[in-house]
Amino acid sequence: MAKLTIKDLDVRGKRVFVRVDYNVPMEEAGGQMVINDSTRIKETLPTLRLLIEKGARILLAAHLGRPKGQRESSMSLRPVADKLAEMIQKPVAFVDDCIGEKVEQAAAALKEGEILLLENVRYYNEEEANDGAFAEKLAKVVDVYVNDAFGAAHRAHASTEAVARVVAKRGGKCAAGLLMERELKFLGHELKNPARPFVVILGGAKVSDKIKVIDTLLEKADTLLIGGAMAYTFRLADGKKVGKSLVEPDKTDVAKAAVAKAKMRGVQFLLPTDNVVATPVDSGKLNKKGRPIFDLQNPRVNSSQDIPDAEEGLDIGPESANRFAEVIRGAKTILWNGPMGMFEDKRFAEGTNIVARAVVEATQKNGAKSIIGGGDSVKALNKAGLGDQVTFMSTGGGASLEFLEGKALPGVAALSEK
Ligand code: AMP
Repeated sequence: MAKLTIKDLDVRGKRVFVRVDYNVPMEEAGGQMVINDSTRIKETLPTLRLLIEKGARILLAAHLGRPKGQRESSMSLRPVADKLAEMIQKPVAFVDDCIGEKVEQAAAALKEGEILLLENVRYYNEEEANDGAFAEKLAKVVDVYVNDAFGAAHRAHASTEAVARVVAKRGGKCAAGLLMERELKFLGHELKNPARPFVVILGGAKVSDKIKVIDTLLEKADTLLIGGAMAYTFRLADGKKVGKSLVEPDKTDVAKAAVAKAKMRGVQFLLPTDNVVATPVDSGKLNKKGRPIFDLQNPRVNSSQDIPDAEEGLDIGPESANRFAEVIRGAKTILWNGPMGMFEDKRFAEGTNIVARAVVEATQKNGAKSIIGGGDSVKALNKAGLGDQVTFMSTGGGASLEFLEGKALPGVAALSEK
C-alpha cells in the first residue's frame, strides 16, 4: 500500500510538524558558521511551497551534526533559518529550542502559510534514544506530522519515528513530503517491475556494506557490474592476487556465495578485467587520525586480473570501463550505487566518469530510467556536471542502501497508509 502524502491532506490552519534533512555542511568564517552547500535546503522547497499554498502553519524540525545531547553553538540551525528565508523569499521564524514554552508560544503565533524552524533536535539525547516522553513534548502543539527527511528515515529517532506515533495515536495524519514521496517512488515502486534489461552497478569501498543489497538485487537484476575496491574481495575469492588493494579477506565467503547465486539465477555478473594501479609510498606524514599518509606513485594500467604485490588497485581499467559502458548503454533500467574507483583523485576517476557518461547516454538516447542510489555516486555525477541528466538521484546514503536491501525504514513505516 502506498503512503499518504501531503498532496492528499487538507492542512488549512493546521500546525504541521515537518521533519526535514537540514544536516548541511558548514564552516566557521569570521566568527560565524556559514553554510557551504544548501542543496538539502533547496530540496525541501517544493514541500514547503505546497504546504504554504495549502495554508498550513509550519514547524520545521531537523538535526545538525552530532552535538551528543549538548547545546553546541556551532551546530545551531539558526543560520539555516536565514538561508531558508532567503531561498523561499519569506520570513522564517526561529526558536532556540525544539520543545517547551517558547516553542508553544511561537507555534501559537504562527499564521496560515508561516514557517517556524526549531533548534537542533539532537541538543537532547532523547532524540536519538527515540524517547516517548520527549516525542510527546515535540508533538505537543502539532496536528499533522510530515516526514521529508529520507536521509534520516533509516533511524528510529524521536523526530523521525516516535512523534509520528504520538500524532497517529491522537488521530492525526502522518504523511510523506514531496521529496520523501519521490524517493519511495524511484527506489521502491519503479524498481518493483523494472523495464529490462535491468543493470545494477555497484562500487565503493567494501563488500560488507553492500552484500545485502547485492543479495536482494540478484533476485531482480539481469546484470550486476561490480567495480571499486569491492571488486578485489571478489577477485581474492577467485584465487587472484590483489597486491596492496583495499580488500576484506574475511568476506571472501560472502563474495563466493553472491557469485554462486548469480550463476544459479542466470544473472550476468561482471567484474573488472583490468585496473588502474599505483605504488603506495609512505610519505612519512600522518593524517588527522594519526594514520600514515601514502603517496600513490606511478599510476598505470594493469591489464592482468592479478595485481602485483607492491601495487594497489585504485580504479577499473579502460577495457573494463568500456565493457561496462557497453552493457549500460543497452539497459532500460539502471541502478547505480558506489564509485568505480578512488574518484576523489582525478588520476583514478576515469572509470567512474566513463560509467557516468554511459548512464547519461542510456537515459537520454535509449529512454532508460537511471536511478542513482545516493552517496558518492551522486557526488561523482555532480562533479562530472551530469547530475541533471539522470532520472533520479537519491538524497539518502545509508537510508537508500537499507531501503534497497528491502528493509522497512522506521521513518517510512511510521507514516499513514493512503
Ligand atoms: P562507499 O561509501 O562504500 O560507496 O565507498 C566510496 C569510497 O570508496 C570512495 O571514497 C572511494 O574513494 C572509495 N574507493 C572506491 N574504489 C576504491 C579503491 N579501488 N581503492 C580505495 N578506495 C576506493
